[in-house]
Amino acid sequence: MITFYNTLNRKKEEFIPLKKGKVGLYTCGPTVYNYAHVGNFRAYMFEDLLRRFLELSGFDVHHVMNITDIDDKTIRRANEEKVSLNEVTDKYTAIFHDDIRTLKILPAHNYPRATDYVKKMINLIQVLEKKGVAYKTGDGSVFFKISEYPEYGKLANLDPDSQKVGKRVENDEYGKEEARDFALWKAKKEEDGNIFWDSPWGEGRPGWHLECSVMSMDLLGEHFDIHCGGVDNIFPHHENEIAQSCAATNSAFVNVWLHNKHLLVNGDKMSKSLGNFYKIPELIEKGYSAESIRYTLLSTHYRQELNFTFEKLKASQKAINRLRELKRRLLCVDLEADGSVDEKCNKMISDFRKTLGEDLNISGALGVLFIWVNEVFLLLDNNKISKNSAECALNTLCKIDSILNVVECPEETLDCNIDELIQQRVDARANKDWARADEIRVELDALGVVLEDTSNGTIWKRK
Ligand code: AMP
Ligand code: ZN
Repeated sequence: MITFYNTLNRKKEEFIPLKKGKVGLYTCGPTVYNYAHVGNFRAYMFEDLLRRFLELSGFDVHHVMNITDIDDKTIRRANEEKVSLNEVTDKYTAIFHDDIRTLKILPAHNYPRATDYVKKMINLIQVLEKKGVAYKTGDGSVFFKISEYPEYGKLANLDPDSQKVGKRVENDEYGKEEARDFALWKAKKEEDGNIFWDSPWGEGRPGWHLECSVMSMDLLGEHFDIHCGGVDNIFPHHENEIAQSCAATNSAFVNVWLHNKHLLVNGDKMSKSLGNFYKIPELIEKGYSAESIRYTLLSTHYRQELNFTFEKLKASQKAINRLRELKRRLLCVDLEADGSVDEKCNKMISDFRKTLGEDLNISGALGVLFIWVNEVFLLLDNNKISKNSAECALNTLCKIDSILNVVECPEETLDCNIDELIQQRVDARANKDWARADEIRVELDALGVVLEDTSNGTIWKRK
C-alpha cells in the first residue's frame, strides 16, 4: 500500500490512481526571470524522488512541469533590461535545464510554456465569464469572483470570515490575509511596455494562477492524480488553480496535493528576495559534487524543513562514498565459496520500498539501506560472499540507485584507469619490480586512492 499526506484533506491517504497503473503528475516549475537556487531544487528533487518511487513501484507516470514565462517578475525583468521577454526567459530556461541535468533529475515529459498557451487561457476565462464566476472591470481586467465558488479556501484551510468578498487583488503573489477576487486577465499597464497580448477584453496578459490550471488540464486531462509544489504555493497559487479549474469544468481537478517544506538558511527560507541563495554551479565550483547536493536535498523528508549547510553536503558525500566503495568491493569478489546474501537483498529492497511507500519516508528507507550496507561490508571483510551473491548485491544496489542516483559517478572512467594502474602494480610486483610498484602507489595516492592488499587481491578506496 502507498500512502501520501494530502494537503487537501490534511491527512495521510492511500494512493489510488485514477487509471490503473498510470499516474498524471503536475509539478509547478520555475519562474524564468532569474537563476533557480538550491531551495527551488529542493522542490524539484522531492518531485524527482516521488516520480522515481512511483516508477519503481510499476506506475507509468506522465510528468508535466510548466515554465512560467509570463508573470509580474519576468515582465519586469525584460523591461528593466530593455530586452524582449523571450530573451530573458530563454536564457533562464536553458540554465534551468542545465541544472536539472547536473543534478540528474529526470526530465519531465512536457515543459509547457505560458506564452504558448495564451489562447487557451483566454478560452478558459470566457468559460468562467459565461458561468458567472468571472467579471470584467473598467480598465479591461478580468477577475475571479470567489463568492461564487463556495469551496474557495479549502486547500489553504482559510477562515471563511477572512475572505474579503467583493474586494480585489491584482498581484500574482499575496498572503492569506488578502484572500480576495483575483486576476485572471490583467489589463496592460504602462510599465508592461510592449509585452502584452490581445484579448476580447483588450490588451493585457493572463494571471499566473490561470497558467497552471490551463496547462495541467490540457496535458493531463481535467481530472488528474497528483499536483506538487512548495508550501508557499498552497496559497494563493494552488487555491486559485482549484477554484478556476473546478468552476470551469464542474468536475474534480486534482486528487492528491503534495507540498514540500522549505530549504532554509539560518532559519529563513532560501529565496531570491532575501538574497540568501546558492546557485547549483556555484556549489559545484566550490568543489561539492552534484551527487552530494542531490543526496542532501533527497535525504530529509519532504515535509520537514531542511537547513542548508556545507557540513550537510560533506556528510552526504561520505554516505555516497560508502555506497560507491561497496560497489567497488563487490566488483572485486572472485570467490566460489558459499555464502548467499540473496535473502538479505530481497528483504532490504522490499523494506526500502515499503518504507518509501509511507508518504516517502526517505529517512526510514535510508536507515534500511545502510543496515544492509554494513552487513554486506562485514561479509565482504570475512570473505563470506561468493561471486554470484556479489552480483545479486550489486543488482540490489543498482535498484536502490535507480531512486538515489548517486552511485554511478563521473569519475567512473577514472576508476577504469585506476583498475589499470592497479593491474600494472600487480604485474610489477610479480616481476619483483618494486620501484615501479611503489611509483604506482604514489601515483594512485595523488589520485586520492589508497590500496589495500587482501587475500582476494588488491582493492582500493578513496581517501
Ligand atoms: P518559483 O520559481 O519561485 O515559482 O519556485 C519554483 C518552486 O520552488 C515552487 O514549487 C516553490 O514552492 C519552490 N521553492 C521556492 N523556494 C523554495 C525553498 N527555499 N525551499 C523549497 N522549495 C522552494
Ligand atoms: Zn503552478
